[in-house]
Amino acid sequence: MFLLYLFLIGLVMGSFFTVVGLRVPLNESIISPRSHCDNCKKTLKWYELIPLISWIIEAGRCTKCHSKIPIFYPIIELLTGFLFALSYRLYGISYEFFAMLIISSLLIIILVSDFKYLVILDTPLIISSILILTLKWSYFGLRTFLFSLLSGLVLFLFMFIIKLIGDKVFKRESLGGGDIKLAIFFGFALGIRLSFMSLVLGSFLAFPYALYYVIKSQEKEIPFGPFLMIGMLIIFLLQSLITDFINLIL
Ligand SMILES: [Zn+2]
Repeated sequence: MFLLYLFLIGLVMGSFFTVVGLRVPLNESIISPRSHCDNCKKTLKWYELIPLISWIIEAGRCTKCHSKIPIFYPIIELLTGFLFALSYRLYGISYEFFAMLIISSLLIIILVSDFKYLVILDTPLIISSILILTLKWSYFGLRTFLFSLLSGLVLFLFMFIIKLIGDKVFKRESLGGGDIKLAIFFGFALGIRLSFMSLVLGSFLAFPYALYYVIKSQEKEIPFGPFLMIGMLIIFLLQSLITDFINLIL
């Protein structure tokens, strides 16, 4: 029952995160104007705003102009619902449960804003960082909190040096500021070792996508954030396995 409830909350939050990811980079308010059809600008009524359900009932089309509503919207909502439900299914009410909710939420917002505008927003990053640090403090105490802060600092220094070297070698902006700030959040949430693993896995995941654009020889900036976040989520899900393994061999 609680699982279904979390799934529904996830649908609603997914819809909200989409609005944040689409509007905030353009400096638009997330409250007004009310949501509208991108094509005919018709303001949506409350029953047209129900995540997923409205899209299914209206068969993916605007009720007025019948233009297609991107399938991207219900997919993002479904994904958020799924991740929220999965957090509880895997961890029950625990530190990991809350941490996974935070990571999933940030993942969705970055997925939208980075793919659409190549932007990683500061505010969601700051809110997520504060939430995860508070969570660490309340579950594990001051020592863990301070260690997490320090890990964030180490990640920042590491990414900053990589950027300096990259800029020199490639003679252009090699790493976006957003990616560096994202790595700081990794440090807060996962500590140093698992953050590095996330960065490596994220880069690995981004590689086929980047390669595709190199082959098409398009000078295109690649949204790196979503891949880093997916890498992070995977490492987070596997962390107890990884930690056991490291303790086993070292
Ligand atoms: Zn319309």
